[in-house]
Amino acid sequence: MHFFELAEPASLQEAIGLLGDSGGRPVAGGTAVMLMMKTGVFQPERLVSLRKIESQYSQIRLDSEGNLRLGAMTPLRRIERSADVAAVAPVVTAAMRRLSNVRVRNVATLGGHLAHGDPHLDLPPVLIALNASLVVASPSGERTMPVEDLFRGYLETALAPDELIAEVIVPANPDQRAAYLKHTTRSAEDWPALGIAVALTLNGGTVETARVAIGAATDTPRRLTSVETMLIGNPHNDAVLQTTGDATAGEAEVHSDARGSAAYKRELIRVFTARAIRQAVEGDRA
Ligand SMILES: Cc1cc2nc3c(=O)[nH]c(=O)nc-3n(C[C@H](O)[C@H](O)[C@H](O)COP(=O)(O)OP(=O)(O)OC[C@H]3O[C@@H](n4cnc5c(N)ncnc54)[C@H](O)[C@@H]3O)c2cc1C
Repeated sequence: MHFFELAEPASLQEAIGLLGDSGGRPVAGGTAVMLMMKTGVFQPERLVSLRKIESQYSQIRLDSEGNLRLGAMTPLRRIERSADVAAVAPVVTAAMRRLSNVRVRNVATLGGHLAHGDPHLDLPPVLIALNASLVVASPSGERTMPVEDLFRGYLETALAPDELIAEVIVPANPDQRAAYLKHTTRSAEDWPALGIAVALTLNGGTVETARVAIGAATDTPRRLTSVETMLIGNPHNDAVLQTTGDATAGEAEVHSDARGSAAYKRELIRVFTARAIRQAVEGDRA
């Protein structure tokens, strides 16, 4: 048994002071941290619990411009049940229902989810498609970064050891439509073999803006920019959807894992790109 100290700071600033050179590792819901400690992936001398920091970091609110602001310590279950989230970003609400099980969602937090950096997570492609950003706090103040810039490699993020995700901002975009498709090869709420998110705006029958992001097939969640380029300015008819699916073939280096071979995942990306675009076009707005 590896012994560690458990610190329970009462403020975000105090928590940050216990990280970095001070040797602490943040723990929020603990659903990923505990598994990694049990399997010996890391053995911190000190865990810094974020449970007792100011309640503002576990709140959901709309700012004066209607943007959705999600405190990083908010449990996923609360996000799933939030009327504000359902109003501004219903694709997030929908994605939650098949994200693991309710026991995990009850304790796992949004900040812990993103900072975990596993490329198979469900929410990163959704938030990347919605052009969401993070507020990151450190001893020197706060910085904002797009969610798509967070991921650097397998379980690797752009966060410094003494930085904490404080908030996630989803911009209001009432004209946007979005969809997230999760394909699993075991149970419905299992880790995805592929997750793909699409967010777009239409002008009549033409696509005006488009963001498409995938998870669970590449070393980090990432955008499919060639698909976005093919969509923008074009009609969203079957011929275009067929071509966009085919355009994904060479764009990203796809990896095999326990839920499917690289060849299988490439085929999933081809087929599910068109399906996700169609669902976004035909479904409710984002
Ligand atoms: C059985 C099981 C099934 C799962 N299935 C799925 C699934 O289908 N889809 C899916 O997307 N996910 C799945 N997950 C993963 C789950 O989403 C993550 O474990 C969870 O979101 C992590 O959140 P947490 O608050 O528990 O993080 P923690 O375990 O507390 O922390 C995770 C990481 O983030 C760091 N950290 C925590 N908070 C912050 C912060 N605010 N700022 C900076 N760093 C921070 C920690 O130091 C650690 O490195 C599953 C997990 C389990 C246990």
